[in-house]
Amino acid sequence: MDPEPVRRDIPTCSLCGEPAAIHQRQAGRHLCGTHLIADLGQRVSETIASRQQVVPGDCVAVGLSGGKDSTALLLILHQLFGSQGDIRLVAVTVDEGISGYREATVRSAEALVHRLGVEHITISFEELYGHSLDTLLKGREPQACSICGILRKKALVMAAERAGATKLATGHNLDDEAQSVLMNVLRGDLGRLVRDSGLESSGRFIPRIKPLMYVQEKEIATYLMVQRIWDDLPECPYAIHALRREVRSLLSGLEYRHPGTMLRLMENKKTVAAAFRGKSPIEPVSTCRECGDPCSGETCQVCRLRHSLGF
Ligand code: SF4
Ligand code: ZN
Repeated sequence: MDPEPVRRDIPTCSLCGEPAAIHQRQAGRHLCGTHLIADLGQRVSETIASRQQVVPGDCVAVGLSGGKDSTALLLILHQLFGSQGDIRLVAVTVDEGISGYREATVRSAEALVHRLGVEHITISFEELYGHSLDTLLKGREPQACSICGILRKKALVMAAERAGATKLATGHNLDDEAQSVLMNVLRGDLGRLVRDSGLESSGRFIPRIKPLMYVQEKEIATYLMVQRIWDDLPECPYAIHALRREVRSLLSGLEYRHPGTMLRLMENKKTVAAAFRGKSPIEPVSTCRECGDPCSGETCQVCRLRHSLGF
């Protein structure tokens, strides 16, 4: 007699009974691919509407590194606004010059904009600063992410300006935002901690928006996988130096064991920010005496870097 087949309980979608693609632990439900796609579209649309991140007449520059978060962001924004004549989308890519890494993600970004028929602007560190990140970092690899972050922020704003954008959207997800809260606490940086990360005008005068700020990284990864838009891309070689990497692994362990940890961190940040409203510990914004960009203090971070790195 044939042995009884082993019965495994395959989780099914809580909404339709099809095989599940993801377990949304905090919501206490499973979703299939189709319902996950619908759920993310709906939640991103709600984030955008509740914070008035996009309004008719906007030209939204979408920061597209080619990695999974920015790929998902462009797909969702294209799905929401692609056919609306009163909102224009332009993808903007920064090529920092990181060999063995950025070439592949730039190719992935180009393939996506080609497929969607979205306008695309690429800007490089070489063109803006006269050097690639690889050259600037020689001997300073442990500071890679802070140097890269400062230079990339300015590069993104410049690309958005070239596009004539009124908003600059980035693919920061819930994990990134929760990590930033914890990192600011660990660094004792109250000014950054209380800044509104959902809509901030820290880039020249183009407000930055983060439509994925309430979507988890694993939801984004599954969203791409179920649509078979998943490129196995290399990781940035400098990521090993990042404090963020350690915070990320700590937080994802906490989130797994205590679902909702990341959302609670974001809520706590809002409470602290509200307590500081009107008496913000952030230095007032002035203009850099060298380049005219908005900054706190006399000289902006990019100009200070130019002096210390000598470029
Ligand atoms: Fe830049 Fe660090 Fe990100 Fe690499 S991991 S792209 S160095 S911020
Ligand atoms: Zn400056």
